[in-house]
Amino acid sequence: MNNNKFLLSIIIPCYNEADNIFLLVNNIEEVLTQYHYEIILVNDGSTDSTVQVIELISQENKHVKYIHFSRNFGHQAAIKAGVDFVKGDCIVTMDADLQHPPETIPDMIKAWQNGFDVVTAIRNNIHKRFSLKNISSICFYWLLSKLADQKVIVNGADFRLFDKKIGAVIRNMPEQHMYLRGLFSWVGFKQTSIDYTENQRAFGKTKYSAKKMFQLASHGITAFSIKPLRISLAIGVLFALLAFSYGIYALIIMLLGAAVSGWTSIIASILFLAGIQLMVLGVMGEYIGKLYIQNKQRPHYLITATNIEENIKVLTKP
Ligand code: UDP
Ligand code: MG
Repeated sequence: MNNNKFLLSIIIPCYNEADNIFLLVNNIEEVLTQYHYEIILVNDGSTDSTVQVIELISQENKHVKYIHFSRNFGHQAAIKAGVDFVKGDCIVTMDADLQHPPETIPDMIKAWQNGFDVVTAIRNNIHKRFSLKNISSICFYWLLSKLADQKVIVNGADFRLFDKKIGAVIRNMPEQHMYLRGLFSWVGFKQTSIDYTENQRAFGKTKYSAKKMFQLASHGITAFSIKPLRISLAIGVLFALLAFSYGIYALIIMLLGAAVSGWTSIIASILFLAGIQLMVLGVMGEYIGKLYIQNKQRPHYLITATNIEENIKVLTKP
């Protein structure tokens, strides 16, 4: 496809990123001069001046569109909203904090033009930085690769390019808890990856609190695997067998008339078994909770304002 004959849509979720947005849009513009593109800034319920910054940029720059959420619905919901309304032939998702270098986008476009449908950018420097976040990320990907039925791309962030047909698939996904990194592997098609060196966040601090990271990890595992349920079952069966064997042993001891049982061993085994049972129940509860929320079929997000010319349902004050 000729360079100027297609539209590229760039989706950027923004949560309290007022200091980064100007710089990011500037950098993107410098890199993409020869392309036809739109930038969709999805304001995920920011409480700083992100709203004002976004509206200012969009007035001055015809490439920039925006979507404002009624509250913080999360990074994955913000990407989903972008995907729901973009018009591009290919779509890029990237972070607002300049950790994802726009210079990688032309290489992603080349791969797409060579026939790939999903081009995932992979951090080549995650192992070089020792932080709690990077170590937990490495552990999470290791765990997910062991549990998930789906191949998982390790060290990918949500920096990728995909064809509009994949966009249509994601748009029609009814899943309440989206784990996009998994879904993009799940869709299949022709996929490739390219390396990039992740920069430090330009301004502000991470918007992924430990709680949000834990939630994302939980969605990632429960959305792509039921192995934790099977492991729970296996643990349950193992301990039932142990308890049964111990029961027989206790019976024999009693029949032999030597039943002197220690309080310590009884209390220790009761507490241990209770702990295992609670853990197994917790794993089950996690899946049942997800079913419950999925069953309610609530929208992924609520939009309060947008300048995308489309018949988008907007909730504003009367
Ligand atoms: N983000 C969002 N909603 C959230 C949390 C994060 O839209 O609830 C956005 C954030 O503004 C950024 C991207 O998601 O553009 C990635 O977040 P962040 O850079 O804080 O994550 P990290 O790189 O530290 O994992
Ligand atoms: Mg970041």
